[in-house]
Amino acid sequence: MAKKLFIKTYGCQMNVYDSARMADVLAPLGYAPADSAREADMVILNTCHIREKAAEKVFSELGRLKPLKDAARRRGGRMILAVAGCVAQAEGAEILARAPHVDIVLGPQTYHRLPELVATATRRAGGVLDTDFPVESKFDHLPDASAPPGVASFLTIQEGCDKFCTFCVVPYTRGGEFSRPAAAVLAEARGQIAAGAREITLLGQNVNAYHGAAPGGGEWGLGRLIRALAAVPGIARIRYTTSHPRDVDDELVEAHRDVPALMPFLHLPVQSGSDRILAAMNRRHGAADYLRNLERLRRARPEIAFSSDFIVGYPGESERDFEATLALVREVGFAQSFSFKYSPRPGTPAAAETDQVADAVKSERLARLQALLEAQQQAFNRSQVGRSLEVLLERPGRHPGQLVGRSPYLQPVHMLAPAHLMGELVAARIVGAEPNSLAGERLEEAERIPA
Ligand code: SAM
Ligand code: SF4
Repeated sequence: MAKKLFIKTYGCQMNVYDSARMADVLAPLGYAPADSAREADMVILNTCHIREKAAEKVFSELGRLKPLKDAARRRGGRMILAVAGCVAQAEGAEILARAPHVDIVLGPQTYHRLPELVATATRRAGGVLDTDFPVESKFDHLPDASAPPGVASFLTIQEGCDKFCTFCVVPYTRGGEFSRPAAAVLAEARGQIAAGAREITLLGQNVNAYHGAAPGGGEWGLGRLIRALAAVPGIARIRYTTSHPRDVDDELVEAHRDVPALMPFLHLPVQSGSDRILAAMNRRHGAADYLRNLERLRRARPEIAFSSDFIVGYPGESERDFEATLALVREVGFAQSFSFKYSPRPGTPAAAETDQVADAVKSERLARLQALLEAQQQAFNRSQVGRSLEVLLERPGRHPGQLVGRSPYLQPVHMLAPAHLMGELVAARIVGAEPNSLAGERLEEAERIPA
């Protein structure tokens, strides 16, 4: 009889991709997707450790799952409970000690061993822990995707990070930088396109540090990989995330110049506009280097727009440092951004700093930064009104006859369009802008306004 699997995913797109791969690994064991934990024979929490209270959230979710597990046992069945992802990697044994009803704890590098872990957990009492960084790559052991990827799909090409920014847990939870061979990436891309994908977002914690084995020997950087991906028949759009400003090399900038399928929108986190704070964060670049990168990219692709991540209240951040961040934001004009209060991550160097910023100060700075970023996002959205943009239609809208897609700048665009256009690129005139989305009208070929 088919068993049911429920995966709850926290955090970034890389976790979304990993959750899909875990479902693929478990499919041959008879696990089919469930809509809720209540009806599941196995529940996986795929966790994120990047910001505050991640571990506590996982423990409270585990508390909520205990009665469901007990109820399954009373019915003579068994619910297997697994914790995966970065909290699992960081907290490992602590999870099994504090939540003994957990059967499996596994780190992000060992998903391919899930069937073995399920078998072990089924055979014996007590939880099993697998948070190794194995020598073999999980990618060599994962089956091909079984579920259709969707019109806009994600493809992990790189994992882990060697940068060791002082605030960040990624190098500890995901391990050292690893790039998949280009041939494996291209084969997976061809599979996704054959299954209906038109847009592929290449994923990595530090994606532009990509340096995978090239098909003919040697290595390819991200720019070269993007050129090869653009040559795969059927691909309409390429994106990549998340990038580090240090790794914007000439080849990548040239790909932005030469590859029309590479979207003119780049998420390039800067974190702070203060050189003092950037140095303390071990970012290994200054504010001027960041601005120079944007300039290079703008020269290569004049219509490019940018988004970024910001951390406010890093240890020792003064009002002056924070104002340098505001000044950088004003200078750039971001299309979209993500901003966070600094949250000390256990085991990272910044967490041990003695000059932590008071929470009230962090909140006040975050509010000021977010007001500025939101105003910029709205201004950017309004600047699209009257333009003709290509929209990749991805899903039905809320109103009858409506479809929703994404602009090149990732803005959701809703418009009236027949259902058979789902999955197609259509030209639309932008007729309205809201804070988080655009309204469009479908254009016939002859009506298109030059971009
Ligand atoms: N690799 C990317 C880079 O170099 O910028 C960032 C990846 S990280 C998974 C995503 C974002 O989470 C970061 O850009 C940063 O803004 C935020 N972040 C990471 N650690 C944080 C912390 N300790 N406190 C607050 N925000 C944090
Ligand atoms: Fe974390 Fe990104 Fe820095 Fe790597 S480059 S340590 S992932 S913030």
